[in-house]
Amino acid sequence: MNKKKILVVEDEKNISNVIRAYLIKEGFDVITAKDGKIALELFKDEEFHLIILDLMLPKISGEEICTTIRATSDVPIIMLTAKVDEDSKIEGLSIGADDYVTKPFSPRELVSRVKALLRRSYRDSSPMAEKLTFNNGDLEVDIDKMIVRKNGKNIYLTSNEFKVLVSLLTRPGQVFSREQLIELAFGYDYDGFDRTIDTHIKNIRQKIENNPKNPSYILTIYGAGYKFGGV
Ligand code: CA
Repeated sequence: MNKKKILVVEDEKNISNVIRAYLIKEGFDVITAKDGKIALELFKDEEFHLIILDLMLPKISGEEICTTIRATSDVPIIMLTAKVDEDSKIEGLSIGADDYVTKPFSPRELVSRVKALLRRSYRDSSPMAEKLTFNNGDLEVDIDKMIVRKNGKNIYLTSNEFKVLVSLLTRPGQVFSREQLIELAFGYDYDGFDRTIDTHIKNIRQKIENNPKNPSYILTIYGAGYKFGGV
């Protein structure tokens, strides 16, 4: 398989270097740009499989770059944002970014998100990537066919349970509040109560965890929400 080429747009040299090192280690081709002008020039000349785009940049802001790119291309974009308020995250997504990572972030988490987004975006060209496996094959998930296997056996999840699980596992390590998880899994129009998510999580754990009381896949982050812990 050809190497996937990633453009990293980040003005902070240290961060840019770390991201590049991690991505290269994972077998990606990486090109970096330290401002928006360079990024847009590179984007015109070369084809990238994915773009990691910092929001706060000199000359041209991340928002503007994203909007400009989106005018001509569907290339997957992950926004890096230091703004922690919810509005800017939603804004990042509404101007066309596919995902966002809030600084400070762990490079490992960013790499997982890059891989997950590439899987989602290029599903057709890499059919073997459709089935995701975790914890040495203990859990297998085929997102397209909505099949979940535990220890080699098919298990039945309701469609809502499946949506919650997929929302979490495609963004490993990211912590979601109940509200965020509801939005992600069911869309903005979902008018259930926050705590219904707890019921779904409880049911999913009964089905996929070796020990639902001490889960290894869906982890509770006290006071914050949930995150996916499978590897
Ligand atoms: Ca910056």
